[in-house]
Amino acid sequence: MTSLPADLRRHAAADCYDCAIIGGGVAGLTLAIQLAQAGRRVILFEKETYPFHRVCGEYISLENYDFLCRLGVPLAAMNLPRMTRFTLSSPSGVALHHALDIGGLGIMRYELDPLLARIARENGATILEGTRVTDVVFAQEQFTLTTAGGTTYQARTACGAWGKHANLDRTLHRPFLTAGRQDRQFVAVKYHLHDVDFPEATVEMHNFKDGYCGLSPVAGGLTNCSYISDVRNLRAHGNNIAEMEGHVLMQNPLLRPYLVAAQRQGTPPIVISQITFRERSTVDEHVLMLGDAAGTIAPLCGNGMSMGMNASFLLQGLLLDFLAGRISRMQLEQQYTRAWRGLLSRRITAGRLIHQVFGQPQLTTAGIQVLRRLPFMTDFILRLTHGQPY
Ligand SMILES: Cc1cc2nc3c(=O)[nH]c(=O)nc-3n(C[C@H](O)[C@H](O)[C@H](O)COP(=O)(O)OP(=O)(O)OC[C@H]3O[C@@H](n4cnc5c(N)ncnc54)[C@H](O)[C@@H]3O)c2cc1C
Repeated sequence: MTSLPADLRRHAAADCYDCAIIGGGVAGLTLAIQLAQAGRRVILFEKETYPFHRVCGEYISLENYDFLCRLGVPLAAMNLPRMTRFTLSSPSGVALHHALDIGGLGIMRYELDPLLARIARENGATILEGTRVTDVVFAQEQFTLTTAGGTTYQARTACGAWGKHANLDRTLHRPFLTAGRQDRQFVAVKYHLHDVDFPEATVEMHNFKDGYCGLSPVAGGLTNCSYISDVRNLRAHGNNIAEMEGHVLMQNPLLRPYLVAAQRQGTPPIVISQITFRERSTVDEHVLMLGDAAGTIAPLCGNGMSMGMNASFLLQGLLLDFLAGRISRMQLEQQYTRAWRGLLSRRITAGRLIHQVFGQPQLTTAGIQVLRRLPFMTDFILRLTHGQPY
């Protein structure tokens, strides 16, 4: 954290928000809506401008259904595809078919995120799009946030919902950046496929060497195809996505037709890189972290969007207690950390373990053969990756 010149510190109570949220993905936006609905002054900063596409499988576990409806998302009227079955395959195409207990809905982030931003605004939150926060300073019991344009804002609390990695991780010297070990790095890729013959109400997850790919329907007759691969696969193919897909992913016969369709379609995929799964802290320099900023989970293994929304639900209750003077800042930070770990760390650990197995050709084949004989084990693993309604 850098210190601000005194003339930039404005402490007038009238200018001070109850909460400043940095990052307008599902975690930040759902937190903004809840605080605004509770009558609190909230400001949220999003560096991009809605709508925009993100690399995400866009499968929302139904555990969030009631929560999203309470916030004002008209899920019932949105006519979204609902998934009730899933297929898992090994790199050689050995497959398991199973029912999904809770199941999920397919919704494009291109639609969901602006919808949440609109609901937040309707409830009185200030949402600043195209506004990148470059610094957060805590002094004299309040935060000063500086944006790329040099404007400063004051808030009593600050929440970091800036996703997997952002400039602010370095600004705050977050401990996970100095973990001192060489983590595996991943690259993630997303397509929206049209005109593919995809089975109704199904999520498919197909493994390939050092990675895995999820497919599921989203609204508008499109199929989301998102995958994560060890970056070594990409480097071994001259950093060329099509080459990597041709030589590695398409070795899985169940995945091949979708990627052939994706390449034929010709729309360039959205790609993000430098993904790691290091453990992170829930509070740094008094900034409360949620969503991927608090713990990037192995995608397709633990429903990251659900975990971000779950965290926002936990956090809003504690923030309201703090803002009303019922708990101190120290209690807020400690109780949030405890509650977050209690609710989510088992899920993150399960996601990491599944992620270790996925992408290993022999292990996934053997694992699928075992699961085919022991369906209750599949139910158990699926339960680990989904949570309870809240
Ligand atoms: C390949 C893949 C597939 C996935 N599939 C699924 C799935 O099917 N279901 C599921 O539940 N989860 C899935 N996930 C995980 C899910 O996408 C994430 O967990 C979720 O998007 C995290 O939400 P968030 O709000 O924490 O962060 P994000 O959605 O990443 O939002 C963070 C926001 O912060 C903004 N930001 C960053 N820095 C700043 C700054 N300095 N100032 C202002 N704004 C800033 C960014 O622009 C961004 O909009 C998948 C992930 C991957 C990689």
